[in-house]
Amino acid sequence: MPGGTDQTLRPFLWRAAKLYPDREIVSRTHQGIERYTYSEYDDRTAQLANALEEYGIEEGDRVGTFCWNHHRHFETYFSVPSMGAQLHTINPLLPDEHIQYIVDNADDQLLFVDQSLAPKLAEAAADAPEFEGVEFVVMGDSGSDALDATPYEAFVEGHSTAYEWPELDEKQPAGMCYTSGTTGNPKGVEYTQQMLWSHTVATLTPHGIPMDDDDVVMPVVPMFHVNAWGMPFTATAAGAKHVYPGPSPDPEDIAGLIEDEGVTITAGVPTVWLGLMDYAEDNDLDLSALDTVIVGGSAAPESMIRWFDDRGVELLHAWGMTEMSPIGSVSQLKYTLEDADYETQLEHRTKQGILMPGLEMKVIDDDGKEVAWDGEDFGELWVRGPWVTKEYFERPEANAEDFEEGWLKTGDIVTIDDEGYIKIVDRAKDVIKSGGEWISSVELENAIMAHDGVGEAAVVGVPHEKWQERPVAFVVPAAGADTDTLREEIMDLLAADYPKWWLPDAIEYIDEIPKTATGKFSKKDIREEYSDQSLVEGTVPEEAAPDDD
Ligand code: AMP
Repeated sequence: MPGGTDQTLRPFLWRAAKLYPDREIVSRTHQGIERYTYSEYDDRTAQLANALEEYGIEEGDRVGTFCWNHHRHFETYFSVPSMGAQLHTINPLLPDEHIQYIVDNADDQLLFVDQSLAPKLAEAAADAPEFEGVEFVVMGDSGSDALDATPYEAFVEGHSTAYEWPELDEKQPAGMCYTSGTTGNPKGVEYTQQMLWSHTVATLTPHGIPMDDDDVVMPVVPMFHVNAWGMPFTATAAGAKHVYPGPSPDPEDIAGLIEDEGVTITAGVPTVWLGLMDYAEDNDLDLSALDTVIVGGSAAPESMIRWFDDRGVELLHAWGMTEMSPIGSVSQLKYTLEDADYETQLEHRTKQGILMPGLEMKVIDDDGKEVAWDGEDFGELWVRGPWVTKEYFERPEANAEDFEEGWLKTGDIVTIDDEGYIKIVDRAKDVIKSGGEWISSVELENAIMAHDGVGEAAVVGVPHEKWQERPVAFVVPAAGADTDTLREEIMDLLAADYPKWWLPDAIEYIDEIPKTATGKFSKKDIREEYSDQSLVEGTVPEEAAPDDD
């Protein structure tokens, strides 16, 4: 049943274009900086909707994107959902096999792809039955050598700047993003209009990431990661100026945009800010415009919070998940801590924050009991609320595991202190998060154990200063295996199927993999026994960076 336009995205843009027609949207592209206004943006979203309709996209269809952060990608953000279709942002850093699965599972028929990512997509699409019938539009005004694709500008050119936006039901799926799990294929999360609307409105409250019409907002977090943490929507709802940092921005690009465009709020994973801090050692960095840096995806180190404090910039530590559209908590200081000394405040700001209004949470221990909020008892964090998904797309087995009575079991092991601050102390899932991107240790182990010379193998995440975690493989060579060549052979085997940044930083030979009482690999014991940062320090080649295209 059409439900009117209650909690849908389109009114955010309608209002921004009416109230702030001249506010700018700025985009770093391969051609340099491009800029236009909300008013022109609004026209372009209508042109794109007309083009998509003429192409044959109907309400309920999915449209995929394979893109970095720029104005054209942003055009799909409002255009696709507001015409009743579903925007499916695809992570171009995934292994080809995952990309093939995702495109097939989501049934994408049309994919928007960046010029610089077209070779990667062409590689994933080559001879892949999952891509049969899929057509491509390449972002920009020229075609692609890698793919048979229509240029975006030719696709939208000549279409009317008026579009009859339909009245949508707020339960209509508007977006989709896949998340990588411990084993098996990535899991799809669908975002309804209402989920994105409620996430936007809650984010704008004082305990979220408040923004105003005089803000200049730059999401460095990729737009293929849960809608760049929703920032393109929140910035529009606020009527703020947008700045998109384009393909693989390096610290110099980020610093330049902050200075030149007067960025007041920006967001990204810790690796991005560590890069900027490094850059500032040898370069002048003017952060005078910047008010707030949002750091999430992995834990923000205390030293980073201090570094920004020293420069008059507030670092807000945020926690969230793909399943949560994504923001769940933000380390805003409660009024009870306003007069506390700096170290006490810092102790709380280093935690993952307090829950955003509108959500509920509880912490469940191994016996299935709720733990006290005393900062010591720990268990798995369960959450529910308007922008938390209730299920994965077509994955009943994962649904049975990860959801219970309307609650999402996050897989994060946490304590909650008496002020309500969440602190992540461990992860129940056997995955590694490197530079904000997931690596499945189980998948690497299975690939390594496929080698004849390997008896057993376990892959664990080792703390790393720049990437937060890096994979290290512990291998028990099979009897008679040639250990002089085994390492190299394993690396070659993995390199054939996985991107460079998935490859272990080190392969250590050991006599036996420690086991739990039930005979499973005990990753905890391996970590305790062998893991030390020296195993990976300095060993990650620059090109292994997850943000490298
Ligand atoms: P994703 O679905 O890729 O956004 O990953 C969500 C997961 O990333 C969470 O369940 C946490 O394990 C981790 N995560 C997100 N934000 C933080 C944070 N601020 N500190 C530590 N871990 C985080």
